[in-house]
Amino acid sequence: MMSEERGDFLLDEFGRYARDYDLHATTSAKETEELAGDIVAAGGQIALFVSESVLPDASVYEAFQRWRVVVPTARRLVTAHWSRFTEDAIRLREGLAKGKYDAYLLMPRGVRDEEFHTAVCELLSDWGSTVAQPEVETVRMVADVDTALTASIRDFLDRMGMPARTYPSHSEVGRALIEEAGPDAPLPLVQSIRGPARPVESVHDVAIQIYGRPDDIEVDTVVDLAIVGAGPAGLAAAVYGASEGLTTIVLESEAVGGQAGTSSMIRNYLGFPRGISGMRLAQRARNQAIRFGTRFFTGWPVTSIDLGGSEQPHVVHTDGGTVRAKAVVVASGVRYRKLRVPGIEDLTGLGVYYGSAMTAARELEGYDVVVVGGGNSAGQAAIHLARFASSVTIVIRRAHLAETMSAYLINEMSFIPRIEVSPESEVVGVGGDGRLEWVEVATGGEVERRSANGLFLLLGAEPFCDWLPESVQRDERGFVLTGRDVPKDAWADGLPPESLGTSVPGIFAVGDIRAGSMKRVAAASGEGSSVVPLVHAWLGGTS
Ligand SMILES: Cc1cc2nc3c(=O)[nH]c(=O)nc-3n(C[C@H](O)[C@H](O)[C@H](O)COP(=O)(O)OP(=O)(O)OC[C@H]3O[C@@H](n4cnc5c(N)ncnc54)[C@H](O)[C@@H]3O)c2cc1C
Repeated sequence: MMSEERGDFLLDEFGRYARDYDLHATTSAKETEELAGDIVAAGGQIALFVSESVLPDASVYEAFQRWRVVVPTARRLVTAHWSRFTEDAIRLREGLAKGKYDAYLLMPRGVRDEEFHTAVCELLSDWGSTVAQPEVETVRMVADVDTALTASIRDFLDRMGMPARTYPSHSEVGRALIEEAGPDAPLPLVQSIRGPARPVESVHDVAIQIYGRPDDIEVDTVVDLAIVGAGPAGLAAAVYGASEGLTTIVLESEAVGGQAGTSSMIRNYLGFPRGISGMRLAQRARNQAIRFGTRFFTGWPVTSIDLGGSEQPHVVHTDGGTVRAKAVVVASGVRYRKLRVPGIEDLTGLGVYYGSAMTAARELEGYDVVVVGGGNSAGQAAIHLARFASSVTIVIRRAHLAETMSAYLINEMSFIPRIEVSPESEVVGVGGDGRLEWVEVATGGEVERRSANGLFLLLGAEPFCDWLPESVQRDERGFVLTGRDVPKDAWADGLPPESLGTSVPGIFAVGDIRAGSMKRVAAASGEGSSVVPLVHAWLGGTS
């Protein structure tokens, strides 16, 4: 905590955190840098740097830059003195936009400034969920070796916001859980707040243990609304549907949050001026939907739909049971394209990841990492990974990032020396003994093998809706057609479907899966909420 006079006002303001964190006060950027170095060298962690807006020996920009080199994972807060706020505001706003720190706030002008402390707690909570080992565990896993299965279970739990920890079989917790499951039970074992330790063979098994199966629903029940996919679009449809009195079920194949759930920081979502991690946004939306009565089944891909109509419900199939629904909202989003390189499938989850894989980032501390892709998701992933990895190389086919990535991300990356860009290049080979150890990168005809323990593939997305019947019409790229985009020969009574209605009455499509959608969180959640009146109108006309 950097302040002009040690132990002054700023330290008083942070007194309430002294019970759970060690507070250190310093008086210069240099002193802070040295102290941070000592703490790290002694095996400590730094959660948050707080600095006044004017420092005696460096600009705040420079100071945060230097501290970031010592502790890349800490959150960074500038507090502006209220007497200097007007002159500071423009300068500080610019630094924030460039990602030089995470927030700047006006210093509290009195006691119990809870707005200020809400912001501090958000920063600490974000650090706690992405950097620190969880203090509270709701799920425990026993495993001795890292496999694609244990990696995917950890990723699933992380994306579901379930604080979890893995224990080796010889540890005290490991031994206790093995006794609970029975001495012959194969590893890995998973124990959750919902049940005792049991062997698991898939993410499905974990999902069933925690969230149940779709066939838990009475077979004769017909729900008003079944939503396929729990990304922002599906979550918004669930909140609005259930809050408007519809019996609502969400079927999600992987983890709640969809693509947004893999985003380390969403900065452009309305109402979150300091940004919010996609996982936390998704968990809040899920809790909101549950509050209104939505039931979620997570870990169950919808495999097909038998179409009903105004007299009969649609029947939505999963491998864990079927759901009968009067209306279906398809919110199944898009998936990352695969990289076609020999051997890559075997290393997926063992150093090779599609999407930003927030969980994996933590495990790559001190290693070299390669990110493939030039879009905003690749930029966000690189910035997050650079908190942990010793180097992050972004491999792109184009000559520059500017054509595909937002300026604010390019700017922020330019301040992170660990990130470099390899233009006009592509990854052509991967390998390692049981997990990724190297990648081969081709640049202008030359192939270079370089060490890499992480390869993150953010290659652009494609729709995935082979499970939908042919009669739900799609465009040439596979995105679902809605409203006036549906070909005229599929219109009923000469009228186009409603704006979010597909070519099949009672089936709606929202979010990234919809042809012509904007591919943003706000747009997806806007469509998810806008579809509910259309569902109501459809239900009004069904029996
Ligand atoms: C890393 C990253 C960062 C991003 N950052 C931002 C940002 O900062 N700001 C912004 O506005 N946008 C951002 N985006 C884009 C944004 O996340 C998407 O536009 C948004 O998530 C789309 O929401 P959706 O609900 O339509 O689809 P998705 O988020 O793709 O969710 C679809 C869900 O459906 C599930 N599903 C798929 N098939 C099935 C099936 N058969 N059965 C059951 N479930 C199924 C999937 O598992 C998934 O959970 C980012 C995207 C990524 C990948």
